[in-house]
Amino acid sequence: MEKRELIIIGAGPAGLAAAIYAKRAGMDTLVLEKGRAGGQILTTSRIENYPGLLESTGSGLADAFRAHAEFFKAEFRTAFVHKVEVRGKSKIVIFRDGTELEAGAVIVASGASFRKQGCPGEGKYTGMGVSYCAVCDAAFFEDMDVAVIGGGNTAVEEACYLTGFASRVYLVHRRDQFRADKLVVERALANPRIVPVMDSVLESIEGADMVDKIVVRNVKTDTRSEIPLNGVFIFIGMLPNDGFVNGLLKRVDGGWLATDENLQTSVPGIFAAGDVRSTSLRQVVTAAGDGARAAMSAYAYLHH
Ligand code: NAP
Repeated sequence: MEKRELIIIGAGPAGLAAAIYAKRAGMDTLVLEKGRAGGQILTTSRIENYPGLLESTGSGLADAFRAHAEFFKAEFRTAFVHKVEVRGKSKIVIFRDGTELEAGAVIVASGASFRKQGCPGEGKYTGMGVSYCAVCDAAFFEDMDVAVIGGGNTAVEEACYLTGFASRVYLVHRRDQFRADKLVVERALANPRIVPVMDSVLESIEGADMVDKIVVRNVKTDTRSEIPLNGVFIFIGMLPNDGFVNGLLKRVDGGWLATDENLQTSVPGIFAAGDVRSTSLRQVVTAAGDGARAAMSAYAYLHH
């Protein structure tokens, strides 16, 4: 069976930072990624809080991370991991077609995905007006009205980005205060194209072939209202991308991977880094820091 000292699952900021540190420590390292390297920042319009970079596009920063890992000769392979198993001291990474790879240590850096709202119409109109990526789809809504659902940093920042295309962006949030950082909220509220719709939940997304309206319910007054529009961008938080370790690794905080201070999971030799693990802050800078720590912990595990 093909074997590596270290296999990193996921090539977002955590996995790519882990690859840089692992290669510089001389480890035989393979990075597995199901799509393009970069992770969630590929769908982020603007990044302005990565230290040393006053402003960058998400894809620009992703490409810089990948180029850095390639500079240190990290090996990449496009693959969808189906399962991870432990056999003795070996970690076995299994792909959909049954192929197996053996590793001395594994870093799970597979990130998180956008949570679905689950209301009527969401599935039916996904790709027909419903989107989870403003960078990918904003241009389809030039001079139209759209809604953004959510009140966190992603929702509020992407609402601002959408005003570069849409005429009006309804920002629908279930409470009377946004969760996003104060500066981000101030910038959004100063934008005349953003219309906050507070204390409101999305009840349904409706239309014919494409979306033509949403129904929202005010949770304080229990009144329903229709908003005519063409696009709905849903940004209501994240879920871990880690189905391939179901039943193997301990989870906490509603499903995120539990790690110790060295980022080791409940199984010795398997580490977790970035958004996939239970953590108080999910940022590019914390994911990159996690990657570095996990790589050094994997080195210590394999060499001491
Ligand atoms: P988040 O911070 O967890 O916010 C999720 C938002 O969706 C909250 O406002 C939440 O409402 C709302 N929500 C959750 N479930 C809902 C439901 N079923 N129906 C309606 N609304 C619902 O998620 P995020 O914005 O995706 O951000 C994820 C992480 O990345 C956060 O740690 C965030 O700070 C970070 N991030 C940082 C930046 C930045 O610093 N520039 C940019 C993007 C993301 P409640 O507020 O009522 O709970």
